[in-house]
Amino acid sequence: MNTNTKKLLLLAFLVVAVVVFPRVVASSYWLNLINLAISFSIAAIGLNIVLGYAGQLSLAQAAFWGIGAYTSALLTTQLGVPVWIGMFAAFFMAASFGVLLGIPTLKLSGHYLAMATIGFGIILQLVLVNAIWLTGGSDGIIKIPSAWIGSHELDEPGDFFYVAAVALILFTWGAINLKDSRVGRAFMAIRENEMAAETTGVDTTFYKIMAFALSAGYAGFGGWMFAHSCSHYISPDTFSFDQSVMLLVMAVLGGNGSAIGSIVGAVLLTLLPEVLRFLKNYYMMVYAAGIVLIMIYMPSGIAGLVSHLRVSTRLRTWWNAGSTAARQVAASSTSGEIASAKAVAVTKGSGAGEVLLTVKGLAKQFGGLKAVDGVDMVVRRGEIQALIGPNGSGKTTTLNMLSGLYIPTGGEISLEGAAIAGRKPHVITALGIARTFQNIRLFGALTVLDNVLIGQQCQSKSGLISSIFHPPWQRAEESVMRAKAIEMLAFVGLKGKEFAQSNSLPYGQQRLLEMARALVSDPKLLLLDEPAAGLNAAETETLVDLLFQISKRGITILLVEHDMNLVMNVSDHITVLNFGRKIAEGTAEEIETNQEVIDAYLGTEVGNA
Ligand code: ADP
Ligand code: MG
Repeated sequence: MNTNTKKLLLLAFLVVAVVVFPRVVASSYWLNLINLAISFSIAAIGLNIVLGYAGQLSLAQAAFWGIGAYTSALLTTQLGVPVWIGMFAAFFMAASFGVLLGIPTLKLSGHYLAMATIGFGIILQLVLVNAIWLTGGSDGIIKIPSAWIGSHELDEPGDFFYVAAVALILFTWGAINLKDSRVGRAFMAIRENEMAAETTGVDTTFYKIMAFALSAGYAGFGGWMFAHSCSHYISPDTFSFDQSVMLLVMAVLGGNGSAIGSIVGAVLLTLLPEVLRFLKNYYMMVYAAGIVLIMIYMPSGIAGLVSHLRVSTRLRTWWNAGSTAARQVAASSTSGEIASAKAVAVTKGSGAGEVLLTVKGLAKQFGGLKAVDGVDMVVRRGEIQALIGPNGSGKTTTLNMLSGLYIPTGGEISLEGAAIAGRKPHVITALGIARTFQNIRLFGALTVLDNVLIGQQCQSKSGLISSIFHPPWQRAEESVMRAKAIEMLAFVGLKGKEFAQSNSLPYGQQRLLEMARALVSDPKLLLLDEPAAGLNAAETETLVDLLFQISKRGITILLVEHDMNLVMNVSDHITVLNFGRKIAEGTAEEIETNQEVIDAYLGTEVGNA
């Protein structure tokens, strides 16, 4: 039996399980609880998108859950809107509030972000209690109608269970799809390293708002389920800060970043108190102690624990062997795909020698310190240009301004005649400047392949909808991106490492990966900040070779480096900085013999050696 048949069988089993489940359980009480658990599950999966994927701590998930519940409850009870329309309204109303909360809180991170979201939850609850004319105040809303199919009302928990189960499967499927898509990878890039995400072409502001909105939409949907099943009654105290914390525990307990984990967490925390009721007065204590112990001893949650079991490793290998990515990587090693992709990429020769980048009077001041002080520089197309100078002379600061991380305090930068000084890093990346960092900044927890896929952010265009639903054209785009990523990894010498976690690579290979991530965006100009730092002699030799290869592909390089052998060997042109000022420029021979450079920099190098 091949893998696809097995997967279909698995799916068929799931369908049968869902169909017979209410008949097997056959208790309204338990089915009600299970529907509640599913409502929590969907809200927790949503929280998992903003927290687990995008790394933004939100403590307002119950507020969005409440917004969904109230929106649909009010529309259906006050205006007689059909319950199914209320469902969409709940999703979109909560998502809109997600945007609303997302925009002002974007400048915040960590504890501050968490506090702002707590504040939002508290405000919402005050509104629910006090805007009596709209929400009914603390009495809440009663007699919320059930959903229906045809003429059949889904007022029995066993009936509503089918709606809940289908929704849960769809929302889980969407969240899992999202993780393996352009948008999902952008989210995870933000979580792993926001600065690197920006310079890799991810519009971090935009994607953070998107993550907030989607996460809130999930919660809103969960709220709709809650309002129209269970007790058909809602009141403000259900949507409190405590509930947000509970949803957070569900998401984290299940396993940060795992949709299935969120479901496990939600089901466990909803059903466990009921199971423990026989302990009478002690049950809350046992329950709380259990959660605390799990949090301490299973930091990566239940999903983390399960994923280390041998059976799940096997299951994953089996599942992944059938995955498109794995097949594509396997196929690339046997076919001529790499050679042909390489041929396409070589564009050397067009416009070589023309001015690509012009820097005029560039300055950056930190308080009283002039880190860069009126630097003029020209980088010509096709050249390897080096920027050298003693530590603290302003080299990294210059690269940071070129890539948009710092806004210059003075001067101009133009790329192909267009002014780019002060523009956002992701915009500059899209215009054709890619970079690596002096202190490697990879998306550490992601695979090598994912890192290089994120590098193609600007070359691809799948939006949120296609990232969730994976239509054919999205899969086609992914396939093209993967082929290019595989080719680029082979180019820098990381073939066979595609599925390794990137921070598990040795230092030298991490540098190569960072270079591959930058190269795959087809930059016109590649900025390298001390690429040879920390490399041994053999690795440095490979690097030199790689630099020439990159240059042959028609990519212009601006290189900051301390290894003088390397600099003198590869550079067409060298600019020397000292205390933020340019003290010399010229060819390798001119620089080597320039007295001022020897005094300020080269002399000390020899002295140190
Ligand atoms: P280089 O890369 O040439 O070793 P840098 O560009 O990193 O030097 O630093 C130049 C000067 O600017 C140093 O004195 C450094 O301390 C200072 N500097 C760099 N970044 C910042 C910052 N974000 N805030 C304050 N000072 C900074
Ligand atoms: Mg530096």
